[in-house]
Amino acid sequence: MEVIKLQNIKKSFNDNVVLEDISFTVEKSEVVVIMGPSGSGKSTLLRCITFLEEPDRGIIRLGDKEVEAGLPLNKHRKKVIRELRQNTGFVFQQFNLFPHRTALENVMEGPMIIKKMGREEAREKAVALLTKVGLADRMDHYPAQLSGGQQQRVAIARALSMEPMVMLYDEPTSALDPELVREVLLVMKELAKEGMTMVVVTHEMSFARDVADRVVFMDDGVIIEEGTAADIFKNPKEERTKKFLRDVS
Ligand code: ADP
Ligand code: MG
Repeated sequence: MEVIKLQNIKKSFNDNVVLEDISFTVEKSEVVVIMGPSGSGKSTLLRCITFLEEPDRGIIRLGDKEVEAGLPLNKHRKKVIRELRQNTGFVFQQFNLFPHRTALENVMEGPMIIKKMGREEAREKAVALLTKVGLADRMDHYPAQLSGGQQQRVAIARALSMEPMVMLYDEPTSALDPELVREVLLVMKELAKEGMTMVVVTHEMSFARDVADRVVFMDDGVIIEEGTAADIFKNPKEERTKKFLRDVS
């Protein structure tokens, strides 16, 4: 079953064409890693999936919700876009936690405000999620009192609290000190094992090798090639992929 289906997505900023004509699908429980040089359009692609950026044209489907880009916003389209967002967990490079709320409050917020869940139920759920990401003893800490790796794990728990159909990660470990990268990747790996569908922009080759079902290599707003991690890392077909792999290793 397809969870995400993108058809012919195009996005420009002024006359800078950032996504050329991207089509791709993600199956349920699939883990897709997107790699590519800086500026190749990876973040824009993730943002387009949830209409954080509206594509100029193309069709985006998440589960049974479909939106065609480039049409005027009406009530129906606004509703579908809201549903797209609510069914997507987004984890950013900069953790984007609410600084004046504890870890627990950060995770309770979405279910309470958006899903109108009662405080006790939201609390129980948040406690379970924070325990799952290894932060049972940090629930009452504020973001500033947590390490980057801990903050990112709170951000993951917060995204999970909305029970998304898919998790989107945009370079989730790039802002972390090297010794904190592993704890975040381990949590992501655990979620993948449980069958969470995810799209991960990352340059962590080991994560791609261990966890990805598919690696997509992007450059200059197009998908250059895709395949298993073994295909892409050991046997890249395209010159641009080969060059990228030489540069990162
Ligand atoms: P990546 O994540 O692969 O590094 P991005 O998607 O961030 O690439 O950026 C792709 C291109 O789009 C870059 O040339 C970038 O400067 C441009 N871009 C991204 N966001 C914006 C924006 N909000 N306004 C104008 N240009 C943007
Ligand atoms: Mg980016």
